[in-house]
Amino acid sequence: MSSKPAFLTIQGLHKQFGSFTALDQVSLDIQAGELVCLLGPSGCGKTTLLRCIAGLQQADQGVIVMAGRDITHLPPQQRDYGILFQSYALFPNLTVAQNIGYGLSPRKNLASQVRQRVSEMLDLVGLSGSENKYPAQLSGGQQQRVALARALAPSPSLLLLDEPMSALDAQVRERLRIELRALQKQLSITTLMVTHDQEEAMVMADRIAVMDKGRLVQFDRPQALYRAPADPFVAGFIGEANWLPFTPLHDCSVLVERVRLDLGHEAPNSAGRLFIRPENIRVLDTNNPANNTNTFLADIVDGVFLGRHYKLTLRPEGMDGLTVQAIVNPEQGDRLLDPLAARRCRIQLPSEALHAHH
Ligand code: ATP
Repeated sequence: MSSKPAFLTIQGLHKQFGSFTALDQVSLDIQAGELVCLLGPSGCGKTTLLRCIAGLQQADQGVIVMAGRDITHLPPQQRDYGILFQSYALFPNLTVAQNIGYGLSPRKNLASQVRQRVSEMLDLVGLSGSENKYPAQLSGGQQQRVALARALAPSPSLLLLDEPMSALDAQVRERLRIELRALQKQLSITTLMVTHDQEEAMVMADRIAVMDKGRLVQFDRPQALYRAPADPFVAGFIGEANWLPFTPLHDCSVLVERVRLDLGHEAPNSAGRLFIRPENIRVLDTNNPANNTNTFLADIVDGVFLGRHYKLTLRPEGMDGLTVQAIVNPEQGDRLLDPLAARRCRIQLPSEALHAHH
């Protein structure tokens, strides 16, 4: 992927609001046709980054290159992108057709061409026949589709989406995510989407750029972020994580309270925290022989039934009150949580699922 020149290159972008640093030396390469999500908690700078790319905000330092052209100082209208915001931002007094045709210059397009393009766009977003309706006659999801059609009508080479689904209710949002992703792939349009919703980012993105406090913390495929988070912030932000404070022991081993854990590779030589996903903790019945590494008894403190699985809260022996969360299938959960059962289990923390962080 990195051998091709990127479609959009952001280099060393820095933005200060007074003494507050909103963007701290952000660099990012986006390939043509990719959908990249900017993900992070509120205030981390993702909207500021999008606005700098759109030319709605000027960065203090840094360069933005799009399709080989330095656009850092160009006005928004010369940058060749379509943009969609959280609120539909349609003109209430214009029809759907007029809204979609708004960005199509009458100087460059005949009225019949505009009509045809509007109808193509409505087809694309699944709203054929709605030309003469007014925004108020449409649901939130439909209005957002019209706004998308409007953004795409001039055939921009970049699509910028700023939390485009956050004003919609959960069901509509889930459907629209899938539709939007399918459409993006069909058009192969390079897309940058801001979201604070990790599930949305996981569902839609080719790659996710995780931001924290104005910095780009990690930029990778969703699977890679989930399996190998670069730091505790990413691990905690994407999916659920167990954290176990450790002290180094020797070679491949560390100590978590009084329990020795084998990491399967050279252990760090200073204290830190071990990270393991709940689904990677193996839960066994107590009668299972304990001849595997990193296997010990645990008390079952709590269990919640979540349909496809149970989430258990466990207190491993020798870890002095630390608890971990683990996932088990419904049958095993029923058995372990039976009121007559001993509420004990054996757990294994596989070496390959343990990641050490400082
Ligand atoms: P959210 O999801 O809440 O919009 P975000 O990650 O998109 O968060 P930004 O909108 O980029 O965050 O804002 C980053 C920080 O910069 C925030 O703390 C915000 O208050 C601050 N900020 C943004 N715009 C300005 C401005 N024009 N003047 C002063 N501070 C600003």
